[in-house]
Amino acid sequence: MEDAEGSPSKDTKKELKQLPEAGTNDTGEEMIEAKCHCEQVRFFIKPAENGKKLQAALCACRSCRLSLGQSIVPWAANVPREKIVWPDGSAFDGNPRQSVKVFKSSEGVQRGFCSTCGASTWFISAKEPETVDVAFGILRGKDGSLAKSFFEWRTKKVEFLDDALDQDLLTLVNSNLSGLEDA
Ligand SMILES: [Zn+2]
Ligand SMILES: [Zn+2]
Repeated sequence: MEDAEGSPSKDTKKELKQLPEAGTNDTGEEMIEAKCHCEQVRFFIKPAENGKKLQAALCACRSCRLSLGQSIVPWAANVPREKIVWPDGSAFDGNPRQSVKVFKSSEGVQRGFCSTCGASTWFISAKEPETVDVAFGILRGKDGSLAKSFFEWRTKKVEFLDDALDQDLLTLVNSNLSGLEDA
């Protein structure tokens, strides 16, 4: 899906060339940057410790599908809240900042999105208040779109497959999920 007028503008081309960007925050620490299309939302995720990786997963649940308008949604899943920091180093508390707005997609669930460009930013459930799912598509991993130096992809199955509208698409994706391990 491409923006208006068919072909990317010069600016968009330049932007695409710049991706993926170096994963450091303003203090130079190694982190992965989250930044939406219009760049008004910008925060960072710190890596897991002791050689471990954070988790990433594909979700096909009804709520993700209808609120984001996509059949399958990749998430940086269950990121410990203390791993997320704003560019000035302040802690993530789940409250909207920058151009983020939030809406309640179901009871106890808050989804953040950029009020300028519409990019999804995060998902927070009252059931798991200590963790945040971050919209994977806004991450700027320096090792590519899967950011495998930071994330281990769950490859057993797409989450909430039974909930999926398009079972054929999900079956196809599921049958190739193991490819994420060595992609
Ligand atoms: Zn934006
Ligand atoms: Zn979902």
